Amino acid sequence: MAFKTIIEPFKIKSVEPIMMSTEEQRIGFLKTANYNPFMLRSEQVIIDFLTDSGTSAMSAKQWAGIMDGDESYAGSRSWFRMESIIKDLTGMEFILPTHQGRAAERILYGHLGGKGKVFFSNTLFDTSRANIEFSGAEGIDLSIEESELVNHTYPFKGNIDTVKLEEQIKNHDLKNIAGVVLTVTNNSGGGQPVSMQNVKETSRICKQYGILLFIDCCRIAENAWFIVDREHGYANKTYKEVAQEIFSYADGALMSAKKDGLVNMGGFLSLKDKKLSDACKNLLIITEGYTTYGGLSGRDMEAIAQGLEEVFDPAYLNYRIKSTTYLGEHLHRIGIPLMLPIGGHAVYIDAKALYPHIPVHQYPGQALVCELYTKGGIRTVEIGSVMFGKYDEQGKLIEAPMELVRLAIPRRVYTQSHIEYVIEVFDKIFEDRSKARGLKITEEPEFLRHFTAKYELI
Ligand SMILES: *Cc1c(COP(=O)(O)O)cnc(C)c1O
Repeated sequence: MAFKTIIEPFKIKSVEPIMMSTEEQRIGFLKTANYNPFMLRSEQVIIDFLTDSGTSAMSAKQWAGIMDGDESYAGSRSWFRMESIIKDLTGMEFILPTHQGRAAERILYGHLGGKGKVFFSNTLFDTSRANIEFSGAEGIDLSIEESELVNHTYPFKGNIDTVKLEEQIKNHDLKNIAGVVLTVTNNSGGGQPVSMQNVKETSRICKQYGILLFIDCCRIAENAWFIVDREHGYANKTYKEVAQEIFSYADGALMSAKKDGLVNMGGFLSLKDKKLSDACKNLLIITEGYTTYGGLSGRDMEAIAQGLEEVFDPAYLNYRIKSTTYLGEHLHRIGIPLMLPIGGHAVYIDAKALYPHIPVHQYPGQALVCELYTKGGIRTVEIGSVMFGKYDEQGKLIEAPMELVRLAIPRRVYTQSHIEYVIEVFDKIFEDRSKARGLKITEEPEFLRHFTAKYELI
């Protein structure tokens, strides 16, 4: 393409106003929120990069589907549409609708897990790990070495280490291995892709030992984009064909449709085996709902069906990935240290490198989160010693391996000029970097402290 400007491949028909605020107002809002942007009211935020989950803008056809949804308890037309689209995409026979991703996880991992069982993964997402551990089972991450190196530009940093996988399999009693879970894209590092080669090799190992392979496919379309772009032999395939090939190597898939389903709520579990599906359907009926709606309304199912078709549109995927890359590359050019290469749905800033004068126990990540909010009204999240923070027996902070700040980009919500604005805010952040101040925690809960902790500026 001859033109370098990334235009959104859609027109805007319905708008939601952003409340504009001044830096002075935001200093007050943040103080009231005790320097924790989770406690801000959303209307105090100009650009919300807290998460890409459930924050997508739906299309006119999805909104039309909301009106058209069939709310019958059993045999809903909207269910049959959603089911047939997921069957076609995954090539799997048995589809179970759920109200979001973690409900599918609880059903599947709860059924296969239990005390003494183990799951292996490239990296388990936090709700996946929580559901596995809640069942009494253990989850072991086997990411490749390159994934730990912030500046290493390996193209498939999301891969599982298949050598380590085989070693682990040999070190465990086969009957205790509940399954292997490939998270595509891998959430760590902002959505690093998994290569087809890696999916194939993992599948070969699983088949050899008779182990079930599952795809956590929240960002399957974004992963397919990277395979077409970067992997030999896929340049002429469609994104959907690539996704279908990934699923063909697996025994099942779980999806939070709040990501690449382009909806605000929903998910599913799909399986190839009837016996496993029958067992999961029992649990579905007990905790989610009847098999033709799970935890969903008919209108939700219409929107998911439509979203799963729209997400594979090449114009959409190009805009999506290139817009995320554009943001990352421009921040890199300014001199902002970040994780490379840029992933699909987020940009991760290395706050420890940006603020070397702030010691880890004064939370450089949280300092950047506060700077981004006061300077530009941009809401982000710290992924470092606040989120993972634990104390040793002497009450001293155990430092996280990295002090990162995540900018997660909602789908179809912000335009190129919003992205330009964010880059401009970062110009100022970089200029004033030596003036940023650390924080002290004044109040914190026992678990998941990042959501509700209170801070003071130092
Ligand atoms: C969001 C997410 C989930 C959980 O889905 P929810 O809809 O939030 O319950 C599971 N795995 C991955 C990779 C995710 O990104």
